[in-house]
Amino acid sequence: MAAYMEHKNLANETIAPARAREIADNVRRTLDRIAAAEVAAGREPGSVSLLAATKTRDVGEIMAAIDAGVRMIGENRPQEVQVKAPGLVRLAAARGFSLGAVESESAQESAQESAHIPFHLIGQLQSNKIGKVLPAVDCIESVDAIALAEKIARRAVARGTTVGVMLEVNESGEESKSGCPPSHAIDFAQRIGNMGGLRLQGLMTIGAHVQDEATIRAGFAHLRKVRDQILAEASPGTEHCTELSMGMTQDMELAIREGATIVRAGTAVFGPRAFV
Ligand SMILES: *Cc1c(COP(=O)(O)O)cnc(C)c1O
Repeated sequence: MAAYMEHKNLANETIAPARAREIADNVRRTLDRIAAAEVAAGREPGSVSLLAATKTRDVGEIMAAIDAGVRMIGENRPQEVQVKAPGLVRLAAARGFSLGAVESESAQESAQESAHIPFHLIGQLQSNKIGKVLPAVDCIESVDAIALAEKIARRAVARGTTVGVMLEVNESGEESKSGCPPSHAIDFAQRIGNMGGLRLQGLMTIGAHVQDEATIRAGFAHLRKVRDQILAEASPGTEHCTELSMGMTQDMELAIREGATIVRAGTAVFGPRAFV
């Protein structure tokens, strides 16, 4: 368990008005940044979704972001998913939203039509934690190995559900980063597409941790090429592999330029993290 979980009550639902206003201002600024980047890239307005990366934030802070217009959230740690999900689901329902895993097929259909807030896992998942996240999340973005995908698939089938997944690709090649090697991505995506219990929704990457914009952009551009090739080969089960989850607070404009459909922002929405 991360140390901050011991001294911050992540299930806390109350928030000081000044903090809620700060988050609302941040959300508006972030949505403006995304809209400006869409225009600059010649992209359709609204083609990029903002996912708020909520690690270290409590339920009250996350609901303030939702009240300000955030419509997708992502957690890194299974323990945080477990601690926050009940409060988030209840408070979202009070505002007319469903949030996170939708179990029955009829509920899945109505969730797509009406107000639904997807809840993604964006951090590394150890296989012994799969059971913790499956009841809560719509999509696991951090699938980077066939063995992990098979274990998630088995658990989803046993639960009688289908869970969204994305294949995480380590485009920068940095050793500290998770993600499969780019050379394996197409093969892995096609194998994952064939697994029952999983719905392959797209590809995810974390931008290179360097100053050079050309290097960061090249990684994003490559992920897009991989996605386009997966769609062009049309292997069974890859037809929904459309999303490109790439770009964070520092590099979202570059990612949007290279075709991101989801940007994951933490600092831009909530301010600097007090814990890491
Ligand atoms: C923390 C995190 C983010 C958001 O990072 P910021 O720099 O705070 O925007 C995005 N993606 C992943 C996987 C993260 O862990």
